[in-house]
Amino acid sequence: MTAILGPIISLTIAILLLGRRKWMRNRIQPNCDFPLAPKRPAGTPLAMIRNAETGLLEAVPRPVELFTERNDWIGFQIGVNKLPAVCCCCVESADPAFFYKQYIIEGLSLTIPFCRYCA
Ligand SMILES: [Zn+2]
Repeated sequence: MTAILGPIISLTIAILLLGRRKWMRNRIQPNCDFPLAPKRPAGTPLAMIRNAETGLLEAVPRPVELFTERNDWIGFQIGVNKLPAVCCCCVESADPAFFYKQYIIEGLSLTIPFCRYCA
């Protein structure tokens, strides 16, 4: 009995492990949210980079800088960046109650803020 049951249990465990591995690999799809910003799975650690001066690993922050001082160009990605909370007509501070939502594609829109007067 053991000569038959032992291999059956071993094969069952091996098949279950291979199936679980295949299932976990299929969950890895880095571009599944494209063109929206990718979302890191819960518990994903920050990227680390070695500091040349100290030799220690440091966490790399994820800056999403809309405006830079280095040039006059603005890198704006719809769905990733948000417009600043200023009115797009008069550049006064925007009222969160007034905005125009432009739908780009399904699940992706651009919110354009306005002040109370311009709305
Ligand atoms: Zn305005």
